Amino acid sequence: MTEVLKDDLARRFATRAVHAGQVPDPLAGAVMTPIYQTSTYVQDGLGRHKGYEYARTRNPTREALERNVAALEGGRHGFAFGSGLAAVDAVLKLLSAGDHVVSGENVYGGTHRQMTHVWARLGLAFAFVDGADTDAIAAAVTPETRLLFAETPTNPMMGLCDLRATAEVAQRAGALLVVDNTFATPCFQRPLELGADIVLHSTTKYLNGHSDMVGGMLVVNRDDLAERIGFIQNASGAVPGPFDCWLALRGTKTLALRMRQHDVNGRRIAEWLTHHPKVQRVYYPGLPSHPQHELACRQMKGFGGMISLELGSLERARRFVERTRIFALAESLGGVESLIGHPATMTHASVPQTLRDKMGLSDSLVRLSVGIEDVEDLIADLDQALAGAG
Ligand SMILES: *Cc1c(COP(=O)(O)O)cnc(C)c1O
Repeated sequence: MTEVLKDDLARRFATRAVHAGQVPDPLAGAVMTPIYQTSTYVQDGLGRHKGYEYARTRNPTREALERNVAALEGGRHGFAFGSGLAAVDAVLKLLSAGDHVVSGENVYGGTHRQMTHVWARLGLAFAFVDGADTDAIAAAVTPETRLLFAETPTNPMMGLCDLRATAEVAQRAGALLVVDNTFATPCFQRPLELGADIVLHSTTKYLNGHSDMVGGMLVVNRDDLAERIGFIQNASGAVPGPFDCWLALRGTKTLALRMRQHDVNGRRIAEWLTHHPKVQRVYYPGLPSHPQHELACRQMKGFGGMISLELGSLERARRFVERTRIFALAESLGGVESLIGHPATMTHASVPQTLRDKMGLSDSLVRLSVGIEDVEDLIADLDQALAGAG
C-alpha cells in the first residue's frame, strides 16, 4: 500500500507533477528514480529486510509512480496495474457474486466488454444507463447495487456525467463511485474532490502521454478501500513492470505542460471544425453548443484534445481518415502526436450495434486525439483531408 508523501500535498499541481512521490536515490543521489529491475530483494536475516521482499508486492519504481499519480489526483493512496483494464478488473474484484453495478452505457468499449463478457458470467449484474442523466442513474439503483461506474467525458460521444450529483446518488445507495478520469486527467478534473471514492486511469493515454507503454492506475483516499485494493493488487497480481512505471513517471512530469497545449489546440480545432461546411456536428465539451457546456465549465478546468465529428456518411469518414498526413490513423489517444480514428470499426467495434445506435455512435463518426504539434499544421492537415473526402 503506497501512501503519498505529506509535503507533496502542500504543493501545486505542476510542482506535484514533476516531484511528487520521488526522493533522490539513497545509494548515489540519482535525481531520477532508478528502474529497480529486480524480482526479489536480499534479506539481512530471517524476518529482517528493508521492507521489500518480492517485486509483485512492492517495487520502488512502481511506488514512486503510485505516489506521484495519487498526489496529482489529491488522493492518499495509489495503485499501479499492468493496463487500464487490469485496473477495472481490480475494482470489480471488490465486489462479490450477486452484487449489482450501475454503469454509464457509453464507457470505454473494453470496460463494457469486461463487464458483460467476464463479470456477468461470474455473477455480477449490470445496468447500463445514460451517464449524463443523473435521474436514470438513481432509478437504476437496486438494493444490491454496490458500485456506480462513471466515465466523463465519454469516449467518443463526449457526454458528461455530473460527478457531484452522482456522488450523492452513490452515497444514498451506500455504493462506491468509481470514475474513469482517463480523458480529463487530474490536470482538468479531480473526481475525489467531487465525492468519488475511486479514480481510475489508463496511464497508457495522457498520464504517460508518449504512446510507448500500457498501464493502469487506481487512486483512493479511504484507508479501508486502500487496504482492500492493495490486497487485490498483490493477490491477483496484474502489476506493471518497473520500466513501464518509469516511463509513466517520466510522462507525468510534463503532464501540466502537455495538457495546456492539448487544450489550446483542441479548443482551436473544435471551433474551426464548427465552421467547416462538410462537418455536420462537432462533439467537444469546450464548445458553447455542447449541451452540457455549463456543467463542463463547472466540473472541469480545461477540455483537452479529444474531439469527435460527424461527417454524414461512412464513405466520407473513410476517405477523411485515410487522407490525413499528420494525424495518424490509429487506436489509442492522449499522446503528444495527433491521432485519428473511426470508433465504429476500431475502438468501439466490440460494442453491440444496438448500443452504438442508442448512444449516437454512427458509422460516420470520426474521433480526433489532438496532439501538441503546431496547431496551424494540424488545421492545414484536416483541411486538405476534408477537401479530398468528397
Ligand atoms: C484506453 C482506455 C481504457 C483501457 O485502458 P488500457 O490501458 O488500454 O487497458 C479505459 N478507459 C478509457 C477511457 C480508455 O481510454
